[in-house]
Amino acid sequence: MTAEIISGKDLAKVIRAELGEEVAELKEKHGIVPGLATVLVGEDPASVSYVTAKGKACDKIGIKSFQHTLPAEISEEELLKLVDELNHNDAVHGILVQLPLPKHINESKVLYAIDPNKDVDGFHPVNVGRLVIGEEVFPPCTPAGIQELIVRSGTPTEGAELVVVGRSNIVGKPISIMMLQKKAGANSTVTICHTRTRNIAQHTRRADILIVAAGKQNAVTADMVKPGATVIDVGVNRIGFTESGKAKLVGDVDFEAVKEVAAKITPVPGGVGPMTITMLLRNTVRAAKFSQLQVA
Ligand code: NAP
Repeated sequence: MTAEIISGKDLAKVIRAELGEEVAELKEKHGIVPGLATVLVGEDPASVSYVTAKGKACDKIGIKSFQHTLPAEISEEELLKLVDELNHNDAVHGILVQLPLPKHINESKVLYAIDPNKDVDGFHPVNVGRLVIGEEVFPPCTPAGIQELIVRSGTPTEGAELVVVGRSNIVGKPISIMMLQKKAGANSTVTICHTRTRNIAQHTRRADILIVAAGKQNAVTADMVKPGATVIDVGVNRIGFTESGKAKLVGDVDFEAVKEVAAKITPVPGGVGPMTITMLLRNTVRAAKFSQLQVA
């Protein structure tokens, strides 16, 4: 039987509507308007489009966005000064510095300068620490989106064999930690695979839930998937570039073949992608509540 498609696009709409209601209530009852500051350095086209999309998504649900676009040659010192100003601006509850930054700027230094209570990307070491001890305030956006997709698709997580392919700091490691927490929507038995793992298929074939974040087309094929599994494909690979520079997006999973084996599967595009910005919005609303009302 063909797998049920878990649509991140549809789920993102549902969650954004819920957040819109929360934002309206915050404004009405407490006079709080959540604010997100985005900082873009340079004109990298992908970064410009990500920041534009984030601004539009904020506007749609009533979050105020403050967009700062800086020249590529800006000094590290000037950028740190802007971060400091945003840290002290009470109308700004979340700060997002779009990566990558130009080579002459130390990315870690800039990210670590963000007030952890405004770190809506969840990359600050304080928030990584909070995540590890189960006191997550701002879970990183892509892993948070993955967890929502699993839970809201009705996939049981408690005691489930959950295998993650990939161990990056932004996807593989945090989602592994989130899914092993002693909490509802987690409590899974987690295995993490990477390029040094011997016989990856031996692990993936045991997975009730398989999360693939390798950044390699066809890293997971149908013979590597347990019948009835839930498969979350995080990968985004651009293939078949045309002369005009357009490309097709595919994930890390051989979607056509794996959907005949799995019970549930996310597509690429339209799976994890739309959830990432949605979780950024959620973290911004949380940041506003956290700073003004001391609740998350
Ligand atoms: P990354 O930093 O390149 O990490 C990839 C990880 O996968 C590494 O740990 C690597 O192992 C492992 N790996 C690579 N090929 C493998 C294979 N054939 N078998 C087993 N493990 C393998 O990538 P990332 O930042 O985590 O992103 C992963 C993918 O998700 C990318 O395609 C990225 O574009 C996409 N992504 C999507 C979103 C979204 O919002 N949709 C957000 C973030 C990322 P080693 O550690 O041994 O090298």
